[in-house]
Amino acid sequence: MANVPEIFGSLVFNDAAMKEKLPKGTYKALKKTIEEGKPLDINIANVVAHAMKEWAIEHGATHFTHWFQPMTGVPAEKHDSFISPTDGGAVIMEFSGKELIKGEPDASSFPSGGIRATFEARGYTAWDPTSYAFIKDGSLCIPTAFCSYTGEILDKKTPLLRSMEVLNTQALRILRVFGDDETVRVQTTVGPEQEYFLVDKDVYKKRKDLIYCGRTLFGARPPKGQELEDHYFGTIKPRVSAYMKELDETLWKYGIYAKTKHNEVAPAQHELAPIFDSSNIATDHNQLTMATMKDIAEKHGFVCLLHEKPFAGVNGSGKHNNWSMSTNTGKNLLDPTKNPRENTQFLVFLAAVIRAVDDHQDLLRIAVASAGNDHRLGANEAPPAILSMYLGDDLTDVLHSVVYDEEYRKQEAPIMETNADVLPNFVKDTSDRNRTSPFAFTGNKFEFRMVGSSENIACTNTILNTIVADALSDFADELEKADDVKAAAEKLVKETVKAHQRIIFNGDNYSEEWVEEAAKRGLLNMRSLPEALPHYTDEKNIKLFGKHGIYTEVELKSRTEIILENYSKIINIEALTALDMAKKDIVPAVTAYIRELAETANLVKGIDPELVTLPETELIKKLSNLLSCFVKKIDVLDKAVVGAKDVEGVAENAMYYKEKVLGAMQELRAVADEMESNMSAKLWPYPSYGTMLFSVS
Ligand code: ADP
Ligand code: MG
Repeated sequence: MANVPEIFGSLVFNDAAMKEKLPKGTYKALKKTIEEGKPLDINIANVVAHAMKEWAIEHGATHFTHWFQPMTGVPAEKHDSFISPTDGGAVIMEFSGKELIKGEPDASSFPSGGIRATFEARGYTAWDPTSYAFIKDGSLCIPTAFCSYTGEILDKKTPLLRSMEVLNTQALRILRVFGDDETVRVQTTVGPEQEYFLVDKDVYKKRKDLIYCGRTLFGARPPKGQELEDHYFGTIKPRVSAYMKELDETLWKYGIYAKTKHNEVAPAQHELAPIFDSSNIATDHNQLTMATMKDIAEKHGFVCLLHEKPFAGVNGSGKHNNWSMSTNTGKNLLDPTKNPRENTQFLVFLAAVIRAVDDHQDLLRIAVASAGNDHRLGANEAPPAILSMYLGDDLTDVLHSVVYDEEYRKQEAPIMETNADVLPNFVKDTSDRNRTSPFAFTGNKFEFRMVGSSENIACTNTILNTIVADALSDFADELEKADDVKAAAEKLVKETVKAHQRIIFNGDNYSEEWVEEAAKRGLLNMRSLPEALPHYTDEKNIKLFGKHGIYTEVELKSRTEIILENYSKIINIEALTALDMAKKDIVPAVTAYIRELAETANLVKGIDPELVTLPETELIKKLSNLLSCFVKKIDVLDKAVVGAKDVEGVAENAMYYKEKVLGAMQELRAVADEMESNMSAKLWPYPSYGTMLFSVS
């Protein structure tokens, strides 16, 4: 058994390690930098770098890397060893303050969305001292931001840090209005619950679609899926359990608060939830968690799939982004406290979130847009692509009383009677959970459930922080002018909720009626990435991000372009993979089976020439028809892929890929799946859904 407190953070240059390794003065100066966001003096950086290197070498590191999050979606690392030549062909291990603070990777191969066309190829990485350095595979990893020579940002961390700063500024203004002179910092907090699938590595290796695309492009439904719901919270199988144990222990060494693990709804699907942290650290840790999930899977003969929809017909994977704001004194600003009706400050923060979500449904939809997530949103297992908020009965009553000037009577928390003598009765929560809502209030935080499992949550939280900060900023403008703050705040909450109540929906978000109702309410329903992304650069959004200094117009346009281009590339790879599988494996397999059937039919006829209809010939006819249809669909897909070259404009191209290419792929798949259902399992070239989903013991 691992000694958890002992291993926790053992691979992290955390506060304890700094305290131990740094001279007192340096430690204090570094702390100040971290807490106040001040620039680090080079002399201090030299001392820190030296101590960090000594510590890293003690822990077996030989290299260091600036670990950053470019627009590729996966963290980037370029490893340099600490070695430095000395006389006589020997080396010493060196690491300077300059190397710690700044790196200069060649940026030319990272996506820049056109920024690079007009600027230099040089890129800079800058140390983010608010996120601790850690050791992974013998390298000291230094979390860094990444920007171009001329200062345009090229990564996901920088805007997140900026948005946290902006929210801090605006939230502090509100707190001051309410007489809080004590708080010096407001931080956004995030706890991302991560879903994933595990498949056996030997099975995985036989599926080109999983290897190239991370999801299956073909596969008939197995006899059993998730309909019995027996996997959710079910007993964890021994092999999976061993995996989870090593995963937890590794994450703990990285200082990640891995807390909860359980089986999810779909067979072979699981979840890991950490304890929440500041948005910045939670983002870094989530990136590291995803990488570690994959690494550890290899060691256990698994492959960890983080794709949003690896298997059709069973639930896909998401990431629940639990989000709140808290003060440096530990107060959660979304805590309704005992009497929310009288807690005007809480109501102001709540109203800000309501306004933000309603005004910026488009941005929240964009924040979770990816080729993978398009398959998941609205698939009756995940929230629809329509944004709405769940507040629960209690808070809805509170807001009702504010809007209609009615007296608020708190619902007494009901007692749950278990009616079993040995079980204690307990006080129930005042509202049940609503698992279908995309944006649900869950006691003292919001849970944004639309995020895809493979996504970097930096972008999601940059947008969340910015839109809430923007509402807070307008609120602060108004409240700072008021003589009677309480009355002004009540009025503000009332007007805000009245104006934005269409976004509140406590019912079933999976139902058809909601889709209709939402349309009547005028809520957006952008079903796919190509539909949503072009709105990123709408006038409203350029203004919003510009006002708060998150993205310039150039940066926003470049991001939009990168995301749209990336979408087209993904669908293109999927289409080429589908074509490869169809032509090289599926057609030959079906013809081989037809031949086998024909040979059998001939043999049978040889025995009894009188036989007119044979089951074999019936089956041959059926499969031949399907096969000729399949070959036609291959041709359609082939042409669709070729046609993409003629569609100019990144947005138009992405839309073409969605409508023409993805459409043709789906039609091709339908025929393949039908053939698989009528084929000999022995001759089918790929492991079946049943094997992929149920073979792990
Ligand atoms: P559930 O009952 O939905 O499992 P939990 O309270 O266990 O809810 O929390 C789910 C996730 O939300 C966890 O990752 C948890 O750390 C996170 N969380 C809890 N409080 C906050 C908060 N104030 N800010 C951000 N995330 C939070
Ligand atoms: Mg949850």
